[in-house]
Amino acid sequence: MITVCEKGKCTGCMECIDICPKGAIQVVDSMIEYNAIIDLEKCINCNACHKACQNNHELMLVKPICWNQGWAADENIREESSSGGLATAIERAFIRNGGVVCSCTFHSGRFEFDFAETEGEVGKFLGSKYVKSNPGGIYKKVLERLKDGEKILFVGLPCQVAAAKHYTKNHHNLYTIDLICHGTPSPKILEKFLDDYDIKLVDIERIKFRVKNSFKLEQNGKQFAVPTVTDNYLMTFLNSTSYTENCYQCNYAQLGRAGDITLGDSWGSELEKKIQDKGVSLILCQSEKGKKLIEQSDLVLKDVELKRAIEHNHQLQHPAQKPQQREAFFRELNKGCKFKNAVRKCYPERYLKDTVKTLLHKAKYVRGGAKQLLNNYWYEYNWIIEITKWKLASYNFATNGLVLHNLKFVRLKYQI
Ligand SMILES: Cc1cc2nc3c(=O)[nH]c(=O)nc-3n(C[C@H](O)[C@H](O)[C@H](O)COP(=O)(O)OP(=O)(O)OC[C@H]3O[C@@H](n4cnc5c(N)ncnc54)[C@H](O)[C@@H]3O)c2cc1C
Ligand code: SF4
Ligand code: SF4
Ligand code: SF4
Repeated sequence: MITVCEKGKCTGCMECIDICPKGAIQVVDSMIEYNAIIDLEKCINCNACHKACQNNHELMLVKPICWNQGWAADENIREESSSGGLATAIERAFIRNGGVVCSCTFHSGRFEFDFAETEGEVGKFLGSKYVKSNPGGIYKKVLERLKDGEKILFVGLPCQVAAAKHYTKNHHNLYTIDLICHGTPSPKILEKFLDDYDIKLVDIERIKFRVKNSFKLEQNGKQFAVPTVTDNYLMTFLNSTSYTENCYQCNYAQLGRAGDITLGDSWGSELEKKIQDKGVSLILCQSEKGKKLIEQSDLVLKDVELKRAIEHNHQLQHPAQKPQQREAFFRELNKGCKFKNAVRKCYPERYLKDTVKTLLHKAKYVRGGAKQLLNNYWYEYNWIIEITKWKLASYNFATNGLVLHNLKFVRLKYQI
């Protein structure tokens, strides 16, 4: 297998796809990692893909020249966005000033890139999608439009922004915003999670991953967990279990940035809690183009201490660390195990706590009370009882063979 860059390092930026004159590259998503595989029958050895790939050349990263925290002046934009709504406010102003915006949308089950030419159209980009989006084919279109004299604002993950800039040779009419990025799972992870609920990604019209500080997956207005619990998809996202291999070595997890502007959350903000609850973003500006974007947008900006912002946002210091459970988690998923069972095996205590919280929440709100709950959650109920028994046994008979017996029994029965 000949790959464009070292195996397991591919970011999925898709620049090589756009650059290959023979359509000889296929980026294969194994869920654990992406790899850009070359079809030797079609390849003419022009080397263009190897030269273009961000893993094979030095990156042009620039440190911020100014920084703030803030939010969109328009309260509706702020309310509907994942964080402070700066992205939408800047995108709308860019269009008002004669430009076109290119960013990530969710459409027909795919997280892909598209253009917006009117302020209203920008709504389709709204919200953070905590999944690896697919920019395949977009760089070519961006370059064509730039050559036609259009001004384009490209908004994406740092590895995608780096690819857009490289592909267009940092065209003077290209403006860029990169997001501070924790890491991204393959969309297949999301599909696996949805499988537990018999939901197909392609059937979903609206998807949300977060409302301000509440990280919750929501499809067509419905959430997957009770309010007191984080669903398993976002739990494995937030604790860095589900990312593709390359994200644990991400070159963009540092203060040097790929875009003219960088947007993230203003974690560690010292503003009043009620202000923070409405969404406060961090904005870093790396260039004169970035300053222009900020000046022309309707934003409320406040001072922020950069050192403090970095301390509270690990992605500005180092990539996400791979948890030891990751290998087992993917092994279980690849064996065909349900998402929920993979989580239960890899994070038994967490699963136990969440199950108890869910039961308590439902007990409060479900009519028909305990009986109906026990029917619905019989399996979980038994599992909790047995694991609790085993825990008690392990305290009481630490050196007794009974502990081993109980542990083996519970593991066999509940496959943990
Ligand atoms: C995968 C991912 C990981 C992130 N990790 C962190 C982090 O660790 N720390 C932090 O401070 N901030 C992180 N962010 C950024 C944060 O979620 C907000 O996007 C940011 O604070 C800007 O918020 P907003 O309200 O202005 O815009 P939002 O409403 O979040 O919209 C932002 C813009 O980003 C685009 N976008 C959304 N998802 C994707 C995607 N998957 N691929 C490409 N473009 C996308 C949208 O199309 C839109 O143009 C992450 C975002 C993503 C997508
Ligand atoms: S070497 Fe050239 S033809 Fe071969 S895969 Fe790379 S870009 Fe395509
Ligand atoms: S990182 Fe981008 S350019 Fe490099 S192999 Fe992967 S998809 Fe292709
Ligand atoms: S962590 Fe780095 S490599 Fe992974 S998606 Fe984010 S920017 Fe790209």
